[in-house]
Amino acid sequence: MTLLQGKVAIVTGTSAALGIGRATALSLARAGASVVVTDIQTDTTVPALEALVQELRTLGAGADYRYVDVTQRDQIEDCISFVHEQFGGVDILVNNAGTTVGARPFLDVTPQDWETSFLINLRGVSDFCQAVIPAMIERDGGTIVNNASTAGLGAEAGFGAYNATKHGVIGLTKTIAAEFGPHNIRCNAVCPGLIKTDMHLAANERLAKERGIPVDVMAAERYEAIAMKRAGEPDEIAEVITFLAGPSAAFVTGTAIPISGGQPVGL
Ligand code: NAP
Repeated sequence: MTLLQGKVAIVTGTSAALGIGRATALSLARAGASVVVTDIQTDTTVPALEALVQELRTLGAGADYRYVDVTQRDQIEDCISFVHEQFGGVDILVNNAGTTVGARPFLDVTPQDWETSFLINLRGVSDFCQAVIPAMIERDGGTIVNNASTAGLGAEAGFGAYNATKHGVIGLTKTIAAEFGPHNIRCNAVCPGLIKTDMHLAANERLAKERGIPVDVMAAERYEAIAMKRAGEPDEIAEVITFLAGPSAAFVTGTAIPISGGQPVGL
């Protein structure tokens, strides 16, 4: 499939081995895009990004990486400049980086949780969009996909600041779609349900601890509510992101698409 041949994509939060970001970068590359993968710089993300770039190049894709902490606007702007210099511009932005810091029972959410959750899950998405949109306008269009969550559509108890910031991501997505549609810029959100990533496995462990029950019992209880009775795979999110980024979704904007195997979204 080469629907994205000649397109240049940036994906944030791509270093986690089981993560949706990594799966998305590989899916976009398989569709023909050049991909710049980014993550915050730590001892573990450095080798992970280097290995991912090699894997992308093995698929025949143009690929490189930048260290970007999405809470740091200067790092975001440096990344956009780099991509312009090395790849000629940006056609696709996938705001994937996120954190479950602040996903606690509401009365336990601290001011620091709020700050971190807001900066990574919402303002980082907004800053990346603000940095990339002017150049997309000059290029006569582009497409943005924001990774929200079913926690942005409804609320499961025990996810305090996470629920709130993910609702914000959907509001931001619709705002950008409304404002920049005339410039041929589309903006959509994906809303994964329970997906088998490190983040999800950590949430199962935390909820099990809070309830004082074994983690496999906790996981089974969470999956029981899902129509398809299982958690999803990162690739199952990545493929929808690639569809939204490409020409098959040319008239799709301002949506927030649940990818959850039929998970009730709560209140
Ligand atoms: P993940 O494996 O933890 O991936 C999140 C990525 O974001 C990691 O690579 C993480 O890097 C990175 N990140 C964290 N803080 C950052 C920062 N300040 N700047 C740049 N990157 C940063 O989790 P995932 O499950 O793949 O989640 C990806 C997205 O999907 C998130 O937005 C999440 O909210 C959303 N989502 C996930 C699920 C699920 O069930 N897994 C469900 C709904 C929505 P480090 O590892 O170095 O922290």
